[in-house]
Amino acid sequence: MVGREIEEVLNEMEKEYKYPLKYVEWFEALKKGKLLGLKCEDCGRVTCPPFSVCQKCGSKKLKPIELNGKGEIMTFTVIHTAPEGFNPPYIVCYVKMNEGPWIPGRLDLNVEAAEKEGVKLLGRKVELKGGAILPGDRHTGNVERVVPLFKLAE
Ligand SMILES: [Zn+2]
Repeated sequence: MVGREIEEVLNEMEKEYKYPLKYVEWFEALKKGKLLGLKCEDCGRVTCPPFSVCQKCGSKKLKPIELNGKGEIMTFTVIHTAPEGFNPPYIVCYVKMNEGPWIPGRLDLNVEAAEKEGVKLLGRKVELKGGAILPGDRHTGNVERVVPLFKLAE
């Protein structure tokens, strides 16, 4: 026999990689307004969204935590020409969370009004508002996705 059976490989992966936080759990928490991450018990780095190993040291000793949802806009882009199923204009941003990780999300802001008023976004403090549900499409097999939705902190 050449190679291995798929069940054998899946069993090995199940034993090798224990997922302390699965994506489905992360999505469900985000829908309820909770941003979960994983804290490395070896080096202290917080990883978000979840991975099976620490993104700094590779440790598998990861403990689920809830992030406080507060951070700072590090970069952003305004989407004026959107893929099918999305309603432009909208803002996609990268936020450095207080706990350390940079995560992509949406910014809940009226783009046209903000552009008219000359609102500055780089470095602005934001907080999690909840989860923005993105509709499923032909590229996701009609499976909806959830991304963090931020709002400007006053
Ligand atoms: Zn680590």
